[in-house]
Amino acid sequence: MKIKDDQFQKIVNNFNNYVPNGIKCPICGKNDWILGDSIAELSLGRDEDGYVIAPVVLLSCKNCGNVQLFNAFKLGIAQSDEDIQDENENKETKSKEINNEKQS
Ligand SMILES: [Zn+2]
Repeated sequence: MKIKDDQFQKIVNNFNNYVPNGIKCPICGKNDWILGDSIAELSLGRDEDGYVIAPVVLLSCKNCGNVQLFNAFKLGIAQSDEDIQDENENKETKSKEINNEKQS
């Protein structure tokens, strides 16, 4: 999934917040990175419910090619299935409430 402009801004804000002095590459020591343009899905294998996927953002060192992976949930740009389900349930509850209000 492509990273949208607002998500990109969120990532930059998070990095500025957590690592205000920049990120030093643990391999070559440079601070020159390029952010991947998509949310990648890291497969964590299978459990009883099927395949488990972790959404991650890739930060690649422009100098040596080292890749750092960042949890897209932590960066605030991905939602878990449970979050989406909760949101949908909340929407259903709200629409039921609205319907109830209309009826009364
Ligand atoms: Zn490097």
